[in-house]
Amino acid sequence: MIDEVYTSSNIDCTNYNELAQLIVESFPRHHDETDPFRVLITTVLSQRSRDENTEIASRNLFSKYNSADELSRAKPQDLYELIKPAGLYNRKAEKIVQIAQIIQTQYDGMVPNSVDELTKLPGVGRKTANIVLYVSFGMPALAVDTHVHRISNRLGWVRTKMPEQTEEALKKLLDPRLWGPINGSMVEFGKNICKPIAPKCDRCILNSCCEYYSRISKKKDE
Ligand code: SF4
Repeated sequence: MIDEVYTSSNIDCTNYNELAQLIVESFPRHHDETDPFRVLITTVLSQRSRDENTEIASRNLFSKYNSADELSRAKPQDLYELIKPAGLYNRKAEKIVQIAQIIQTQYDGMVPNSVDELTKLPGVGRKTANIVLYVSFGMPALAVDTHVHRISNRLGWVRTKMPEQTEEALKKLLDPRLWGPINGSMVEFGKNICKPIAPKCDRCILNSCCEYYSRISKKKDE
């Protein structure tokens, strides 16, 4: 955990790459699955779903449908029971079958490897596209979800309202080698320390470099 590895005295708060590297090293996230189609579909399933529920839904789905070709021939309702654990199952089932059909008919069964092409697919936004580009194609792609957006703003690295703005701003701040891994690591950091409600600032090694913590500390002193 981040607070067990570093002491605040060895942190340079002006070096965003070093701070991001610290988060990446302290909250590593491994990707066992890298197949582009599976990563794409699993990321669609993960929308508004807990990791553990996404995993169950993904396992169920791919135990029955092994490829874009097989899924393109399914009916959305065939997927309902399989993906129910991930929630919003009827909407997700419809999108998943549409995605499989488009990949089969327009991309010869291969997941495209550009943001522009990926975001043409139904239910695929920049976050999902960037996850696929990094995890499956090893490209420098920065996926911004609610954790990345919230934490970057709390730390004062960016001042943005929308995730797309956060992506742009972070890309200017961080070395491209950090764009991919920062997503998964900030997700872990956000789930364990910098939680949406009641962040554990007292246990956070980045608190000496955090605008949010500085603000709430001042308020407590007033
Ligand atoms: Fe998040 Fe608090 Fe750490 Fe700032 S000090 S990064 S708000 S947990």
